[in-house]
Amino acid sequence: MKEIDESKLILIDSNGIRTDGRRWNELRPLRIRVGILDRAEGSALVEMGKTKALATVYGPKEMFPKHMANPDRAILRAAYRMATFSVEERKKPQPSRRELELSKVIKEALEPAIMLHYYPRTVIEVYILILQADGGTRTAAINAASLALADAGIPMKGLVTAVAAGRVGDQVVLDLNDVEDKYGDADLPVAMIPATGEITLLQMDGTMSSDMFERALKLAIEGINIIYERQRDALKRRFLELKEKILGGEFYASRD
Ligand code: ADP
Repeated sequence: MKEIDESKLILIDSNGIRTDGRRWNELRPLRIRVGILDRAEGSALVEMGKTKALATVYGPKEMFPKHMANPDRAILRAAYRMATFSVEERKKPQPSRRELELSKVIKEALEPAIMLHYYPRTVIEVYILILQADGGTRTAAINAASLALADAGIPMKGLVTAVAAGRVGDQVVLDLNDVEDKYGDADLPVAMIPATGEITLLQMDGTMSSDMFERALKLAIEGINIIYERQRDALKRRFLELKEKILGGEFYASRD
């Protein structure tokens, strides 16, 4: 990894501009595509700046082994993985402790949104692959996963939307990139179901005063509302695309 001389690193310059040209309250450029894979039941690709997360969904399908099935609801499985080429130095392909931890955190952030009780004895699998990592991979993963779930037609209370806010010196900042995540003072990833206002993930790495915490949380929620609109637009585009395909006769019942 390239060595960074921390003493010379300026995360916010005297004009209030961050390392990638943003102001404190600006999101990274966001790009969302839903339904990009034919063979998964649901899929989505979310790019937040240079961070790229691909999510796929399979299920609900019968749970195997059967003794692990829950008679009252579906079980959600989430796997978060980073591609070997997603970081500067090749990442070992074996799942790391961090990947296992993030898989759990992401599962818990998605679970409250899904109507799991509609599908007893089944399993819903969410697989997330980070294609490129530049900070905020867990939030990009959650944004992509909730869209892939919607694309798979899984009933939900609402989409789950996530972004991190943080602290650089005495300034709160939105949607941290990798350098800000590593050399900033605090990172606060937040996930929420904007349709109900439920917060489903709230973590903090670093330190903040309670006043700053409140400002950072407010900033993250403002960011979430912007991302949520973009997620809804991407889903609408997907459904219009499907409607056109159906009307164009691209889908037909098989005789087999
Ligand atoms: P998040 O990606 O959700 O911010 P972390 O705070 O754990 O999660 O990671 C911050 C950033 O550190 C990642 O987005 C990525 O850019 C970088 N990173 C994580 N794991 C590795 C790794 N194994 N090698 C190099 N960089 C990594």
